[in-house]
Amino acid sequence: MPRYSYVNGSYVPHANACVHIEDRGYQFADGVYEVIGLINGKYADERGHFDRLERSLNELQIAMPAKRQALRFIMRELIKKNRLKSGAIYIQVTRGVSKRDFKFPKAEIKPSLVMICWPFNFDGNPYIKSGVKAITVPDQRWERRDIKTVALLPQALAKQKAAVKGAYEAIMIKDGYVTEGSSSNFWILKGKTLKTHPATHDILKGITRTAIEKIAKDEGLTIKEERFKPEEIFKAEEAFFSSATSLIVSAVNVDGKNIGNGKPGPIVQKIYEQYRAYANGDYSDQIEWSA
Ligand code: PMP
Repeated sequence: MPRYSYVNGSYVPHANACVHIEDRGYQFADGVYEVIGLINGKYADERGHFDRLERSLNELQIAMPAKRQALRFIMRELIKKNRLKSGAIYIQVTRGVSKRDFKFPKAEIKPSLVMICWPFNFDGNPYIKSGVKAITVPDQRWERRDIKTVALLPQALAKQKAAVKGAYEAIMIKDGYVTEGSSSNFWILKGKTLKTHPATHDILKGITRTAIEKIAKDEGLTIKEERFKPEEIFKAEEAFFSSATSLIVSAVNVDGKNIGNGKPGPIVQKIYEQYRAYANGDYSDQIEWSA
């Protein structure tokens, strides 16, 4: 079956999907994106992801490429064309195509809109059972990490560093404090208290993170949105990453040292199960996301 992607108004065979060489996303990383999980036919927090897309665009003064309803329609068409049941949908919007110049183009240009999707087997993700290894790295990103831009080079370098060391994720450290994973939020648990970095400009406020906050409270956990030092990771009983595709994955070893007994713990497992129920619509209404 051919694979399709969406590029600026057309559904095209994936192999032929391309954008102009003077797209400002390509030359300046002048664009934003979202990744939405489709889990067994249901979108996980679709609304939250569109809320964040609008906010990211707004922060960069890029117009929405179409009304939200139209974007949702395109996404559904793409899913149908690719016969996708479980996977990820990638939505990218850039300022558009214009002669290379740092300043925004004077004339109004149409933002570029691209959607790509691929299958992902949420039920068969081996990392849920095994947990993952991570390393710590310096956080080398710009100072507006709350905007989900396509400027991902520091994250790519961090992930590569992790991969070379046989680790799955890189935990970023800024001014001596943990910010987040290179493509995830990071959490530590001690007793009944979950800690994660506050949603400032220093991190991306995850949609999964917001859902977990609600779930964890319902599970009787206290959430402290508070900065913590890397040393605290090693005193934690459990730790995990959250993101739209990995969902909730235990960090069982960081920089070669085990967290707890080096296996996924029961509380993270419980949060994962509740999150799956939540994404399935069994739990309660899906969250509202706001910056
Ligand atoms: N932080 C960063 C830097 C990320 O790239 C991601 C993944 N998009 C997240 C956090 C998690 O966000 P979400 O739960 O919305 O996928």
